[in-house]
Amino acid sequence: MMRLILFIGPPGSGKGTQAQRLAQELGYRHLVMGDLLREEIRAKTPLGQKIQPLLEAGLLVPDELVIDLVAHHLQNGADYILDGFPRTVPQAEALDRLLNEKGASLQSVIFLDVPEEELIARLLKRSELEGRSDDNPETIQRRLAEYRQKTQPLLDFYEARGLLRRISGVGSIPQITERIKKAMEMC
Ligand code: ADP
Repeated sequence: MMRLILFIGPPGSGKGTQAQRLAQELGYRHLVMGDLLREEIRAKTPLGQKIQPLLEAGLLVPDELVIDLVAHHLQNGADYILDGFPRTVPQAEALDRLLNEKGASLQSVIFLDVPEEELIARLLKRSELEGRSDDNPETIQRRLAEYRQKTQPLLDFYEARGLLRRISGVGSIPQITERIKKAMEMC
């Protein structure tokens, strides 16, 4: 049976890094929503052209577009860590329907908690190092606002179902990986 782990966290929380480490350790596939969207933009597909201005402005892409993209990428018979999906309650509901159809189950939802001042400092530093077009001061504020307004409600959604694991995302990379594994009762 297909198993899924979700990573939720604000921009700059380190979920990409941690999701990748855990995926490698567990032998799960690591599906990164931001990368799928950036690949559409790079390849100049019709979807890519539609979403480019949204990503550059730090706004979320409409639910139906990301839902279709995930449905298209989830293959039966594999286990996945989803990184950056779902980010809204309607996305989470759509994921439930998708998993029902596939007879798949949610194993846990990892939430990486990092104070906002630390997030802003990390994103500004990343903008210097990597030059990602959405890592500039105005866009960072917009992404954090989108997170607070649309993604934060997901924490209650999964908490109510007993799936949420809250983990402090402050510390060294291996320390945080250990915390995640403990929270998932793998140690
Ligand atoms: P970060 O979480 O650090 O902001 P990501 O690479 O995960 O970076 O996402 C970059 C951008 O891609 C987001 O600001 C948003 O525009 C878009 N995006 C990613 N995942 C989703 C999603 N599930 N729903 C809507 N938009 C998304």
